[in-house]
Amino acid sequence: MTRLRRPRSTATEPTLEIDLSAIAANTRRFAAATQGEVMAVVKADGFGHGLGDVARVALTNGASWLGVTSIAEGVAVRATGLTAPVLSWLNPVEVDVETACRNRLDLAVPSVGHLDAIVAAGCPMRIHLQLDTGLARDGAAPEEWLELVAAARRAEAAGQITVVGVMGHLPAADRPGHPANAEGRLALQCGAELAVRAGLRPVVRHLAATAATLTDPSTHLDLVRIGVGLIGIDPSGSTRLRSALRLVAPVVQVRRVPAGTGVGYGHTYVTDRPTTLALLPIGYADGLPRAASGRAEVLVAGRRRPVTGLISMDQTVVDLGDDPVEQGSEAVVFGPGDEGEPAAGEWAEWAGTIPHEIVTGIGPRVQRCVR
Ligand SMILES: *Cc1c(COP(=O)(O)O)cnc(C)c1O
Repeated sequence: MTRLRRPRSTATEPTLEIDLSAIAANTRRFAAATQGEVMAVVKADGFGHGLGDVARVALTNGASWLGVTSIAEGVAVRATGLTAPVLSWLNPVEVDVETACRNRLDLAVPSVGHLDAIVAAGCPMRIHLQLDTGLARDGAAPEEWLELVAAARRAEAAGQITVVGVMGHLPAADRPGHPANAEGRLALQCGAELAVRAGLRPVVRHLAATAATLTDPSTHLDLVRIGVGLIGIDPSGSTRLRSALRLVAPVVQVRRVPAGTGVGYGHTYVTDRPTTLALLPIGYADGLPRAASGRAEVLVAGRRRPVTGLISMDQTVVDLGDDPVEQGSEAVVFGPGDEGEPAAGEWAEWAGTIPHEIVTGIGPRVQRCVR
């Protein structure tokens, strides 16, 4: 995927503009909000904003660690030349330890099986013991924790690994008072305490992601892992962050139609008056959720306009009413809201999902433009 660097353009093709100054400002905000260190989580191509760009900007604005889910993403970070510590936390037992070692990646370890495989590879990896703190998802089940801690202690004493961290993840941080969060925090603190009693010396205990960092300082511990907050989304709804994305598309065709015109597949929308329709060359293959059809709006010529009919794979039709809009005009699909355009979060509501899914789902046909 080519990434152009140039000032804001009038789009001649669908373009995702990425505002690195917003990522810088958001990172500084998180660094100021915690006593702990900030890990910039750059998985999923930096939440669709460019892994290398997000990592570099975050590290120069207060983050000191990087987080990814896989060795491949960790290797991609190292390929940019960045030397900060990188943690990968979703690795299979048969993880490529040799590649992780060569790229100086820390590995999260959720089971004795994972630990054994790392030890067998013969490279003295830095590891973070990973406890499931309430999602029944990644991390060791609580009843396996003591065995994992004991095995890690033996391996560390034998010089085979170094335990640098203990980590968990909160199940309902976007709902601050939810009791599962307090339980998760206690589980992590207790798990870390058990590790210390076993003779381990983890220097970073970490639990909080964006929402918990913004709403509950008791979860910050030694380090917070910030992903979606860096790019301007606060799942807790408590804080106004700056969105870093603006998705635009050109109006490629304008046509006047009479009342009673069926629009798009299945004629789910029929005009009730003579009106003007604009065609945008962007659809669900580019990440506009089809489920938002009938509810979504875009900004054209300074006003919000309804998306009419079903969003199709490559095309979306917008109702302009009687306003004269020229072919070649720019439609703002979503953005930070400066001009009255919808936010990615509104698209998420229209589609019954969360903004994370919108911003990470923009397809490869959409040109990227970094500002
Ligand atoms: C994705 C992820 C994060 C970042 O979460 P945000 O809510 O995007 O800040 C933190 N920790 C883990 C384990 C994750 O998978």
